[in-house]
Amino acid sequence: MKKVLFIDRDGTLVIEPPVDYQLDSFEKLEFYPKVFRNLQFIREKLDFEFVMVTNQDGLGTDSFPEDTFWPVHNLVMKTFANEGITFDEVCIDRSFPEDNAPTRKPRTGMLTKYLNNPEYDLAGSFVIGDRYTDVQLAQNLGCKAILLQPDKSSLIEIDRGENKSQSLKDVCALATTDWNRVAEFLFAGERKAEVKRTTKETDIYISMDLDGSGKTNIATGLGFFDHMLEQIGKHGGIDLTIQVKGDLQVDEHHTIEDTALALGECLKKALGDKRGIERYGYSLPMDDCLCQVALDFGGRPWLVWDTEFHREKVGDMPTEMFLHFFKSLSDTALMNLNIKAEGTNEHHKIEGIFKALARSLKMAVRRDIYRYEIPSSKGCL
Ligand SMILES: [Mg+2]
Repeated sequence: MKKVLFIDRDGTLVIEPPVDYQLDSFEKLEFYPKVFRNLQFIREKLDFEFVMVTNQDGLGTDSFPEDTFWPVHNLVMKTFANEGITFDEVCIDRSFPEDNAPTRKPRTGMLTKYLNNPEYDLAGSFVIGDRYTDVQLAQNLGCKAILLQPDKSSLIEIDRGENKSQSLKDVCALATTDWNRVAEFLFAGERKAEVKRTTKETDIYISMDLDGSGKTNIATGLGFFDHMLEQIGKHGGIDLTIQVKGDLQVDEHHTIEDTALALGECLKKALGDKRGIERYGYSLPMDDCLCQVALDFGGRPWLVWDTEFHREKVGDMPTEMFLHFFKSLSDTALMNLNIKAEGTNEHHKIEGIFKALARSLKMAVRRDIYRYEIPSSKGCL
């Protein structure tokens, strides 16, 4: 079955002109940053059909004469074609918003040939656009959306007012203003994972998105531990949810140990076959302390722990559990961890270690889709 990328023009391939939103002169023409290299890569490496879907309000009327539209549009199309980016179909709606035309995005009047057509896999297709109406179009077509906005916040507002079975937030598979991320997402897929771990001592749920924006939702029952785990998400660019009910009436041990085991397992799952990753990472930050975390996702666990703590606890976390946390994490993530830290302030020292871990993770899990190989001479990790 054929898959399609339904691609918006203004705000997606070219910058949408401010004020009147009309691209009607060459002075207003500016291409979207990084669009050529990535769209050409997608065209060459993946088998999507390309369909341009654009609303051009009142095209052909006095408010938007044809002879101001076509010269610029033709140059846009020619420039893309010269870079190997051709469109299988170009759909332009000329109505005004108040006409409520069935052909106007987000309605599907121009795209009926793709609907209920067994030749097309719409569930595996995407709309790429910069407005919530592009996400609504995806919803109406039964495909997913890639939104060229920094985040999904505009969709959440619309969802509140609507009463549909599927929210726009869920239709939107990715929100980014970076075409590199769009190509990476379409080519290499998501890196999300979930782990549930229940024993008589702890009940743990963890979910993560390695390509997130650092959003965290963490509650382990231990305030200081939560604060440390938040560093991993925030400084690692990882969306991280960790919910733990542990036997804190006994002590902190099982809660910390089992969270580390589940976190390592989740990391391993999210990394998949590790294709294209950088693999190694290191970092050296913070205040009076020098903290270094070097790691390798080489497939074997090992921990070197070269630091000392002189207080029994930091916050509600026993310092003897620090080593135990990193040992458990490296055991289930199957990574080497080499940690060194010196300094006087114990809070700074452990926070610096967690931050250095987060930065190391961020560097090590970064993917390069132009060198999409397993980073090992063995051929597997
Ligand atoms: Mg647009």
